[in-house]
Amino acid sequence: MVSQAAFHAKVPWICYSFSMHSALVRYHEIALKRGNRAYFVEHLKKNLSTALRGMGLKEIRNASSRLLLNFNQDVAPDEVAERLGRVFGIANFSLVERTENDMAVLGARVVEALQGQSFDSFRVETRRVDKRFPLTSNDVNRELGALVQAHSGARVDLTRPELTVSVEILPSSAFLSLERVPGPGGLPVGASGRLVSLISGGIDSPVSSYRMMQRGCRLIFVHFHSSPFLDRSSQEKAKALVDMLTRYQFVSRLYLVPFGEIQRRIVAAVLRPLRVVIYRRMMLRIASTIALKERARALVTGESLAQVASQTLPNIAVIEEAARLPVLRPLIGMDKQEIIDQAMNIGTFETSVLPDQDCCQLFVPKHPAVKATLRRAREAEAALDLEELASLGADHVEVERFHYPEPKEDRGLHVA
Ligand code: ATP
Ligand code: MG
Repeated sequence: MVSQAAFHAKVPWICYSFSMHSALVRYHEIALKRGNRAYFVEHLKKNLSTALRGMGLKEIRNASSRLLLNFNQDVAPDEVAERLGRVFGIANFSLVERTENDMAVLGARVVEALQGQSFDSFRVETRRVDKRFPLTSNDVNRELGALVQAHSGARVDLTRPELTVSVEILPSSAFLSLERVPGPGGLPVGASGRLVSLISGGIDSPVSSYRMMQRGCRLIFVHFHSSPFLDRSSQEKAKALVDMLTRYQFVSRLYLVPFGEIQRRIVAAVLRPLRVVIYRRMMLRIASTIALKERARALVTGESLAQVASQTLPNIAVIEEAARLPVLRPLIGMDKQEIIDQAMNIGTFETSVLPDQDCCQLFVPKHPAVKATLRRAREAEAALDLEELASLGADHVEVERFHYPEPKEDRGLHVA
């Protein structure tokens, strides 16, 4: 699992006196793709351009299995790092200062950048792209290493250093960077296609959404609410959660579907124990219609096996039968604590646990069936006009749009 540091980008070099001109982005899983690598890299470039909108990004260049991002101006390293920390497909990245390819200048910059910092161990890692440079990579490592050691008193550790000073010698300049920050990994959003995610306002569905975005999917969100029977608190939570998740995919649409009247009709026609299963089947029917309209290829839920009565194996099978597209359940084998840990890491937990009036609380029996059968579900539904019920939701749906960063800022690079 990716650490909290990667998401909230506690950036170590903020405290260094460092002028940032470029960033070097490394990908891992994309590099394993052979024939399709270019496809994934293009998605990554496009997403980088969007994520860094308003930050003065000048160009993105391919640099031997990495991407070099050059900026127009000296930009705030912490802001760049925070945004890069949310771009799926990035294994890790470094913020880079461009300086002269001259040992005296390089040495002075390294010493200056590390001034006042305390670290116990370090190493210098040099890559000499320009072979005409008079010193070998090892010579540069030794010379800069001795300088850092003399100024900091730290020891050299080639295997697990606390700090890595990276130097790249180019024909007319040199790159200097002081840290590698882990990215969120996975695949660039958009590369794997579109999904419709059912988002409730609870703890689980934001995590299931996050996990599918990390696999390169772009999500369209659907939330079912029971207003006017209940207040709007679940909708407000769903909006707040989608707003947070939009930071990973840059644009989102949230469908807010009124479900209270549908539930009321179900209550009038279906015996207590089966109601939850019939509600869920209705949700999947409506979500499927939205997904087909949106050209999404599957649905996503935050179900985890046997976590609650509606999520027993027999019930999951009966509920799924009503869907017109595959239902993906990224949390199915996770236990609640693992899900909570990830919700905390991605920052959705605090919003998810705010009290709300969720539609699951309306007309819900004390003892729902845990072993529904398809025959009994169909018998119960025979008393309902399913098409009319679905249109009760669809006809009053509201769609809300989300953007990150705000589109008012400069539109970023055009990446073909
Ligand atoms: P969550 O924490 O995501 O609410 P949960 O453990 O409370 O999940 P359920 O309430 O049984 O479990 O819901 C299972 C899944 O069904 C949710 O993860 C979500 O994908 C979907 N779902 C439930 N209620 C809603 C809703 N009101 N709107 C949209 N999707 C919902
Ligand atoms: Mg729930």
